[in-house]
Amino acid sequence: MQAVELTVLGASGTYPTAGCPTAGFLLSHEGTTVWIDAGSGTFNALQTLMDPSELDALVISHVHVDHSADVFPLYHYLRFGPRRRPPLPWYVPEGIVERVSAYVDSGAGTHMDEVFASYIPGRGEEVAVGAITFRFGRADHPVPTLQLRAGAAGRSLAYSADTGTGSELIELSRGANTLLAEATFQGPSKPAPHHLTATEAGEIAHRAGVERLILTHLLPTLDPHQSIEEAATAFGGDVMVAVPGLEVLI
Ligand SMILES: [Zn+2]
Ligand SMILES: [Zn+2]
Repeated sequence: MQAVELTVLGASGTYPTAGCPTAGFLLSHEGTTVWIDAGSGTFNALQTLMDPSELDALVISHVHVDHSADVFPLYHYLRFGPRRRPPLPWYVPEGIVERVSAYVDSGAGTHMDEVFASYIPGRGEEVAVGAITFRFGRADHPVPTLQLRAGAAGRSLAYSADTGTGSELIELSRGANTLLAEATFQGPSKPAPHHLTATEAGEIAHRAGVERLILTHLLPTLDPHQSIEEAATAFGGDVMVAVPGLEVLI
């Protein structure tokens, strides 16, 4: 049985830095590879690992640019690049297809249906992409936002996307091997309610009973060691921070 592998393409919250794209992850198992979130810089990182035309699916959690900006170079690659393929399935929340279509309109229309096969999964809906199954939830965020739980070979990964504490993330991630959770802020400071602090991410991991917590979406100005410390205090388990190039078996 092959392992289920999570590779971090980028993890910076809100804007990329010189060495760190914004949100983007690859999940792979037994020849199935799914790209989860396409933050700025992640398409370049993806191309160091694989031919993007060989992706099995793309999941975009929400339209905010730190999660979706590299949909545009992917669109051009699939449309004008060296290899033709059937439309790439992409799983998105409500509203994204229309907004991306408007942006990629060249003036002579778009070719969205030739490039992407669009699916909007409902809350709790389960979807199989090759060897990996997904169950989708909705985050607590100002725009429609997908959360997900991915499973394969008896292993499971939950991803918070961007969220406040008002989502069903605890239910979605209950008993998962790995929770990939946003921790935009640290300490008691929480300038935006629709994100998590490191302590809140740790509390969710604790209540969900996951084995391991990976923090992501930290503001680039934060000290990641402090976020790890705060989350670990609340969680009581293994905590790490997502950085580009990190590969873990979920
Ligand atoms: Zn974000
Ligand atoms: Zn967001």
